[in-house]
Order: sequence, then structure tokens, then C-alpha cells
Amino acid sequence: MSLLELKNISKSYLSKIGDYQVIDNLNLSVNHNQNIFLFGPSGCGKSTLLNLISGLDNLDSGEIFFDGKLVKNHFDLLKDDIGIIFQDHYLVSELNILDNIKLKSNDITKVENILTYFDMDHLKFKFPNQLSNGQKQRVCVARSMVNNPKLLIADEPTSYLDKDNAKLVIDLILSSSKKFNLSTIIASHDISFRPLFDKSYTIEDKSLKEC
Ligand code: ADP
Ligand code: MG
Repeated sequence: MSLLELKNISKSYLSKIGDYQVIDNLNLSVNHNQNIFLFGPSGCGKSTLLNLISGLDNLDSGEIFFDGKLVKNHFDLLKDDIGIIFQDHYLVSELNILDNIKLKSNDITKVENILTYFDMDHLKFKFPNQLSNGQKQRVCVARSMVNNPKLLIADEPTSYLDKDNAKLVIDLILSSSKKFNLSTIIASHDISFRPLFDKSYTIEDKSLKEC
């Protein structure tokens, strides 16, 4: 059984000139422990698709199945089963790193363990503005995994990073996804990462094409 199944999902936005369809009858199946790369030029619909999967936006039509069950309320999934990494870090500047991750989990043991796993104990009491961009994004990787999600969604997680830090972040996501047995869907316009993934897709004609 797949972890995630998208069945004929469609999404359009309302614009001044009428409906603008971004995704039309798109299908996708993601297995357990599978790493998916979503590649494509700016504007092709990567964020739209990821936001539909994570429930940050609503489908016009179609169905999403998670772990074999039809998703009716994304809120529960977002709490535990889906972790998200954004382009920007969205760390709260007034809170130290420990407290930032505690916003995602009340379980202090989990928070401590995830920081130790990611070798970030020395960053616990630092504030976001004391960290480099690469460190901040690695903290976000840790935060996204604190509740042991089954699926990790990352939307252009490396676009604000230099090449070396970008590679570090992708490697960290992929190695920890193996360690924690989770599937990932990572969007990027940097095609050099494609060989690191099990499968890669691009959005063409409002649907997915394996590439
Ligand atoms: P990508 O992430 O691949 O750059 P997006 O999913 O952000 O692409 O955008 C796909 C298309 O949908 C673009 O043409 C964009 O302008 C449009 N779009 C995205 N979000 C909205 C929105 N909230 N309202 C109207 N149009 C949108
Ligand atoms: Mg985008």
C-alpha cells in the first residue's frame, strides 16, 4: 500500500481574467521510504502541489489518500504525520532554538533527542539571528522531524543557501529520512540533486511527468 495517493486532483486560482488552472487531474503515488524529487521552472506549480498535499491549500476536486485512508481533515496529519520545511526558516526570532522546536512538540524528550541526533546540542540556547543560514535551515530539518512524521515535504528548502550548504541540507534530509523511515517530496529548481532521489517528476501540462 502506498503512503500517499493523489487521485485526479485539480486546482485553479481565481484571477482577473477568470480561473487559472495550475493542476488538472493529477495523479501520484508515493511509497513508504521513497524519496521524490519535484523539479521544474518557477511558476510551473510545485508549491501549489505541495500545499495541496500538506493541506495548506484546498483541492478543487480529486482525492488524497494517506496510509490508505481518505484525507478529510488535514489538521491531524499536519500535527504528526506530515513534516514541512519551507523555503524560509520561519523560526521565531524571540525564542531560542530549543523553544522554537518546542513549538512543534510538547514532548521535551523528543525535542532533546532530535537536537542530539542532528548534532545541534550546542545550538539549543542560541537565537536564530546567531545562526548562519545553513544552520537555520538544518534546524528546520530537525524541527520537521521532531514528531516522527511519515512524510516530509520540503518546498525549495535550499534556494537561499550557497551550493555547499544546499548540498548539506539535502544530504541531511535524505540521510535522516532513511534513519527515521519516512518518505520525502522535495521541490527544487536545482536539477543537480535529481540523481540523489528514487524518483523525479516535473509538472508539465498541469500534471506530473516522470523525468
Ligand atoms: P512554483 O512553485 O513552481 O514556482 P506555484 O505553484 O507557486 O509555482 O505557482 C503556479 C502558478 O500559480 C503561477 O502562475 C502562480 O502565479 C499561480 N499562483 C500561485 N499561487 C497563487 C495564488 N494564491 N493566487 C493566484 N495565483 C497563484
Ligand atoms: Mg514555489
